[in-house]
Amino acid sequence: MSKILELENLRKEFVSKSSDQPIVAVDNICLSLEKGKVLGIVGESGSGKSTLARLMLRLVEPTSGKITFDGIDLRNQKPDELRRLRSRMQMIFQDPMSSLDPRMTVRAIIREPLDIHNHENSQSREKLVESFAEKVGIAKSALDKYPHEFSGGQRQRISIARAVINKPDLVIADEPVSALDLSIQAQILNLLKDLRRDLNLSFVFISHDLSVINYFADEVAVMYLGNVVEYASTPELFARPKHPYTQALISAIPQIVADQRTDRLILSGDMPNPANPPTGCHFHPRCPIAVDNCSIQTPKLRSFGQNHQVSCDLVTA
Ligand code: SF4
Repeated sequence: MSKILELENLRKEFVSKSSDQPIVAVDNICLSLEKGKVLGIVGESGSGKSTLARLMLRLVEPTSGKITFDGIDLRNQKPDELRRLRSRMQMIFQDPMSSLDPRMTVRAIIREPLDIHNHENSQSREKLVESFAEKVGIAKSALDKYPHEFSGGQRQRISIARAVINKPDLVIADEPVSALDLSIQAQILNLLKDLRRDLNLSFVFISHDLSVINYFADEVAVMYLGNVVEYASTPELFARPKHPYTQALISAIPQIVADQRTDRLILSGDMPNPANPPTGCHFHPRCPIAVDNCSIQTPKLRSFGQNHQVSCDLVTA
């Protein structure tokens, strides 16, 4: 199966206001996504996952590394070419209100990508708008309303319709359900699953919530302070989590079935400040199994079996 997205040694530094040293937001990211699959990216706030999402579309410029979209080196593209390519890559944001123009009707919002790319004629655009509104659960009679007249869940449905109406090759969803109530989250996840199947979409799905990732993703990259610390297929990651950080995240997921409950691993402290990262393994101040060497030596991502990589020097098998 061919790859829709490949990231090689991607790094992003920001200038620090308080130090001569740059702030490294993401470092040495090597990930890829096959067409039609979902790559989940999980981590706490401050792990660099949202910066990574923006790097994938070149909405922020990488400091170094390579981004290949459907075989095309994105960093070599001129602004015009990049704009054209971006119509094949769409983003769904956490807060739909900030991504929907409050002065536009829902009809105009959903239709806008078709207008920008001059899709066929006006009649065909209108038909598509109505069909995609129906697909996402927005009534035809509501299309001439404005975003503020809808609930948060409905607004996310509108932003999803807008993102997929051009049948993009890649959708990057950055925390698309985390601002919604639990019952609405399930509806939106089911909607995304149906659209993925019906339109054969490839997804990068970003969330701080591993249970959401478990429901939606085929493969998972766990991020901590700008680095991928574990990567595996979703069933493999949940069956055999190897990194202590992943183990702690999984142990924090509530289990309904009593005999599936495991002892919760509570991490001490918060995510460190990326402007002042801990030496050695960035996770060592919070790691329940850290040894002296962990504060000196930086672990590398190593392979364990097929398609499972872990960055922890204490993992042996
Ligand atoms: Fe914990 Fe050390 Fe492994 Fe880092 S390298 S995850 S601090 S045991």
